[in-house]
Amino acid sequence: MTVNYLVNHIPTSTPLERRTGRRITATTITIHNTGNPTSTAANERDWLTNPSNKRKASWHIVVDENVAIEAVPLNERALHAGDATGNNTSIGVEICESGDYGKTLDNAATLVAKLLKERGWGVDRLRRHYDWSGKICPRLMYDGGEWTGWAAFKDAVQAKLDEGAITVKAEDANAIIAKYLQPAYASAKTKAEKDEAHRLAEALRKASGQKK
Ligand SMILES: [Zn+2]
Repeated sequence: MTVNYLVNHIPTSTPLERRTGRRITATTITIHNTGNPTSTAANERDWLTNPSNKRKASWHIVVDENVAIEAVPLNERALHAGDATGNNTSIGVEICESGDYGKTLDNAATLVAKLLKERGWGVDRLRRHYDWSGKICPRLMYDGGEWTGWAAFKDAVQAKLDEGAITVKAEDANAIIAKYLQPAYASAKTKAEKDEAHRLAEALRKASGQKK
């Protein structure tokens, strides 16, 4: 589960404060749709430095069916949330609407899961643009106000996190439990020792996907 990731920052001289140079410590990730049915990630990145673009707006990462492109460093303020707190505390991820949207959404979920995992965050750290400013964005997750697409996206991210979390094979975990932890439990002299052997066995069962 990887997405091609390209770092292609817009120059610090880019006008309209698209690169503020101001350091932020992000605490959330904000999800957007580009609002353009035909633009690719490369198109969106180019638009940020196109002289005919007069909008005072920028974002950190854009993702399409093929690639994710980082246009603003993730520790620098970008203008995407329509709200000062949002801009000061959130990483803006734009999801393209062009091409194979199913593939794009899968890439977006993979990318966002990776960003969360790197920071030790869960899906409770995800925000819609809508949460900051009331704008109907990400618009393709809106569903006439039901936001079922948003719930599905968060589920998809959670599934990626769960998938990535299983790094121990069930048979290995069970072998460790049978060979080491059960004898340790059986021969434990105190309740604390028994509890610890039990705790470790449960942790292994979880890590190997045998328990939620
Ligand atoms: Zn938006």
